[in-house]
Amino acid sequence: MNLILLGGPGSGKGTQAGLLEKKLGIVHISTGELFRENIQNETELGLLAKSYIDRGDLVPDGVTVDMVRARLANDTHLEGVVFDGFPRTINQADALRELLAEKDWEIDAVLHIVVSEAEIVRRLSGRLICSKCQQTYHKEFNPFRYCPTNSCEGQFLYQREDDKPETVRARIHVYQDQTAPLIEYYKDRDLLINIDGEGNVEEVFGLILKALEISAGM
Ligand code: AMP
Repeated sequence: MNLILLGGPGSGKGTQAGLLEKKLGIVHISTGELFRENIQNETELGLLAKSYIDRGDLVPDGVTVDMVRARLANDTHLEGVVFDGFPRTINQADALRELLAEKDWEIDAVLHIVVSEAEIVRRLSGRLICSKCQQTYHKEFNPFRYCPTNSCEGQFLYQREDDKPETVRARIHVYQDQTAPLIEYYKDRDLLINIDGEGNVEEVFGLILKALEISAGM
């Protein structure tokens, strides 16, 4: 099964994609995460991406699509993919269709996680990430208690540069301008499923599984 998680910054795409990966045995591909890995490793791609990410802008389509193509080629035994944060523009969506067609694959469903702007700001302003294992926490709603991989005491938690309030506002604007048109794009292709993303992690995951059972006829 190949899925896309579509939603604004802070809508919970990454968390839900991680749960889907475990539940369905498919691979979670997050372009944001791939960029952050490149930034940490100080690659050429990382340096380029950082200048866009720190401003809340999108990394150019060509670079992003090439990175996804390389990631897909890396895994020869893929059972399916859950894309998180990709595509983010119509051009990327067209490119993804072509990339998947090369494998005789297509997208089975696009889960659009719907969250209000007020909730997005509340979530992102308190979000913390572990630079060791990329686990996400929240100062208020999900504070660090213990490390799920047993490898730290919470000393690697940091706030993403692009989760600072000014950048969050820029990211919301970019989402509305460049990514939201994908809602119509996938609706026209009968792939869009709206998911109420305001609940807690388990509630939203429950809604996703229910929706997939219906759409996948399982
Ligand atoms: P995320 O972790 O998905 O919130 O992504 C963090 C940042 O990485 C975004 O605000 C963009 O600057 C960049 N980024 C991630 N995915 C894409 C994409 N598909 N296209 C362009 N830029 C992206």
